[in-house]
Amino acid sequence: MRRKIIAANWKMNKTFSEAMALIEEIKSQLSQIKNRKSIVIIAPPYPYLKSVADKLKDIENVFVAAQNCYSQEQGAYTGEVSADMVKSVGADYVIIGHSERRNYFKEESSLLAEKIKAALKNNLLPIYCVGETLQQRESGKCGDVVRKQIEEVLFSLSKNDFSKIIIAYEPVWAIGTGLNATSEQAQAIHSYIRTIVKEKYGSETSENTSILYGGSCTEKNAAELFGCKDVDGGLIGGASLNAKSFTEIIKHISEKK
Ligand code: PEP
Repeated sequence: MRRKIIAANWKMNKTFSEAMALIEEIKSQLSQIKNRKSIVIIAPPYPYLKSVADKLKDIENVFVAAQNCYSQEQGAYTGEVSADMVKSVGADYVIIGHSERRNYFKEESSLLAEKIKAALKNNLLPIYCVGETLQQRESGKCGDVVRKQIEEVLFSLSKNDFSKIIIAYEPVWAIGTGLNATSEQAQAIHSYIRTIVKEKYGSETSENTSILYGGSCTEKNAAELFGCKDVDGGLIGGASLNAKSFTEIIKHISEKK
């Protein structure tokens, strides 16, 4: 089923005690939202996953995600963390293919496809990120780039496995820049993503896929972005580090019809 989702990507921020204080604040803010009609997912750094999951375990429709996981099950991969390990500390979701992983860590489609499979095998639900650079957008390649990112990484999945995927459209030029996509730009590409999914998996799967927007989404622009027909929520970086801003964003998706 197509769900409304707000996910927080804390990236490499906060000490342990700061992270615990933030999660307590988020918990308290969430308890004040009446009739929240959305799923909330928090992606802290790996070392905090279990503590965050423990703190959130009794709250309905709030889940924990890892920001990454490795493709292999176990073994001599110093510094890496498997999907199984992530699942074992209480996470239910994992972000795969964030542009920072693609850019700084040179993660390419073949590896990302393996990560997606490892996640699904271990009952972790992937939030798969796609998006174009400014140069790609300016040269009119936005749609082609996103299509390739989806086809190469997701299209070997069965229909059943694909139905577990959440897609996050995150234009690289909007991430952490304060420059968000306009609602027209977001709607155009979200709708195109739905078309790409429909071509491969049919209209029911396509209509049921949650497609999130990410890139400088704040409490100021969330209502407009979430007002778009094909935007089902957001993947929030900077603004998720402030409990008040993050909860305001959650309120905006809860109000979406
Ligand atoms: C992100 O990194 O996923 C993100 C959307 O960051 P920001 O909200 O800070 O642009």
